[in-house]
Amino acid sequence: MTEGTRARLRWVIKAALAIGIVAAIVLPPSCVRRPTPATHVPPEVTTPTGGLRPVRVLIAENVSNARVSIAAPYMVEPWGKRARGKPAILAQCAPLREGAVQVTKTAIIVGERHFSDDAVHIRIERRAALTVDGRRYRGSLVVLRTGEDQLALINVLPIEDYLYGVLGGETYPAWPAAALEAQAIIARSYALWRMADRRGEPFDLHSTVMDQNYLGMAKEDPRLTAAVDRTAGIVLLFQLKLFRCYYHSTCGGHTEAVQEVFPDPPLLPLSGVACKHCKDSKHYAWKRVITRAELSEALSGRALGSRPVASLAVTRRTASGRAAEVTLGAAGASPAAMAASEFRLAVGPAKLPSTFFQLREVPGGYEFTGRGFGHGVGMCQWGARGMAEAGYSAAGILHHYYPGSELHRLY
Ligand SMILES: [Zn+2]
Repeated sequence: MTEGTRARLRWVIKAALAIGIVAAIVLPPSCVRRPTPATHVPPEVTTPTGGLRPVRVLIAENVSNARVSIAAPYMVEPWGKRARGKPAILAQCAPLREGAVQVTKTAIIVGERHFSDDAVHIRIERRAALTVDGRRYRGSLVVLRTGEDQLALINVLPIEDYLYGVLGGETYPAWPAAALEAQAIIARSYALWRMADRRGEPFDLHSTVMDQNYLGMAKEDPRLTAAVDRTAGIVLLFQLKLFRCYYHSTCGGHTEAVQEVFPDPPLLPLSGVACKHCKDSKHYAWKRVITRAELSEALSGRALGSRPVASLAVTRRTASGRAAEVTLGAAGASPAAMAASEFRLAVGPAKLPSTFFQLREVPGGYEFTGRGFGHGVGMCQWGARGMAEAGYSAAGILHHYYPGSELHRLY
């Protein structure tokens, strides 16, 4: 090799290294790490063969029957811990049109067939063939007998199919793609965390704000489905672990530290950050007047027992400025303190959208001047929308709302 060739080679290697380094910094997908042993699917959510187990979503409880249609042949199998030692298939059935599931003292009835089990799994091989009480679902259905004449219904389906329905329940198709992708990643991470958390229980997730709103296929939309598909398998981790990545509608200017609202310990990604992107939310700023009579009724049986509320004051605030504690007074009783988040839920989230309020006495009651909607912890959904409109990527949005967290592709 001549000296000239060597020099050219050195230059090419230097240039290649430089390009590689720059590419690693600027390429957007670089925010997603490749799978490593540490970021494999957590064992709590895998099947015995190592795959990701389906998610179990409670879609009805404390009902005695439900209207069910199944537009494909299906199998009824025993379900749960008592299934061991039973035949693998209890019945093979033709499609069920305008049928029902019901419960008696001794049996679960699916269509015309009686099963003397406490839990059966209606396994449907075809996707999206299930309708329960007029709403279509992907996946299959578990019927649990929970009392003499009560049953619970659990939709069992692959997590990515479930996420199509969660985005329908939690966001809007017209929102910018990066906001939808951030929501998909968070909904997936939350679901996986819950699946590990509730692995020994009959279901993983409620289909309401108790976990995440899930509407089956009712509000699926190609834009939402595409956001789920573009982020398939990507989750948010902190120190390589799933965590309960709370989120809420509108923070009103600053998100809240988790330990101020929930019985969780402090966690860096949930420590609260400033947010200047949720001003377009109709809940960004609000004003409510709540009368003493309304407060007395809502709080009856709590801190003051049945006494009417005579006074109300915020007696502690969090670092973000939200009310942390309120103190109630009543004639003939000593003042009683109450966590502001408990106070808000007792009064009702519709009347009191958040604990981010100032209080002023007015004739007959109190005027609450406040900001935001929801508990305030984790991602601000309207803030994510604003950040996406300002050009941030899903990764940029999530790193802002969950400081210290990292995106990983689990599968
Ligand atoms: Zn916000």
